[in-house]
Amino acid sequence: MSRLKSTFHTQLPLLLVVAAGGLWAASYPVPAQVWRSKDGYTDSGYQWDRYYFISCRGGVGLLHVSGTTRVEYGPGRDRAGGRWSWGAERLNGRSPPPLSYAADVVPPEWRTLGFGAMSGGGPPLNEAYRYSAAAFPWPAVVTLCAAPLAVRAASRFRAALGRRRERRVGLCARCGYDLRATPGRCPECGNVVVAES
Ligand SMILES: [Zn+2]
Repeated sequence: MSRLKSTFHTQLPLLLVVAAGGLWAASYPVPAQVWRSKDGYTDSGYQWDRYYFISCRGGVGLLHVSGTTRVEYGPGRDRAGGRWSWGAERLNGRSPPPLSYAADVVPPEWRTLGFGAMSGGGPPLNEAYRYSAAAFPWPAVVTLCAAPLAVRAASRFRAALGRRRERRVGLCARCGYDLRATPGRCPECGNVVVAES
């Protein structure tokens, strides 16, 4: 169990890197969004309340859209019932109404590679809506996922350097016992010392 756990810990960052890299690559041919809609009717009319996770053109973004709007599409087709939904679209093509909102709302600079955080609202889509969005380049996400791997590699390298130095000065690499009187095998811990060529 602990072995499985440690294997999992070792492989997880690698899996994350592979997954993020795959999503990065896929964001060009297949812009995609996952969204959660909590739209509904209130006293003041139809209320937008949507969260989007969007991946397109090398970037990834989070978007929240809210506001009171006209009902352009019937609630039956418009609502996701509060569940997370997924959709893919080609930004230049026609797509089902709910899928096109996020891509239309987000300013053009959001879609390019780069970090961004912005908010706005108003027309052009509807009477009164507000959005706030944050965007990250996928490469930054991949780098972040790869950071634990780099840290581990660095600590392994440092440990290897330390062992090498200890062998050189005649100390046991495992317990630090002075091996000058007994080269070859540590009398303290039994560590077999491999002679350095
Ligand atoms: Zn030893």
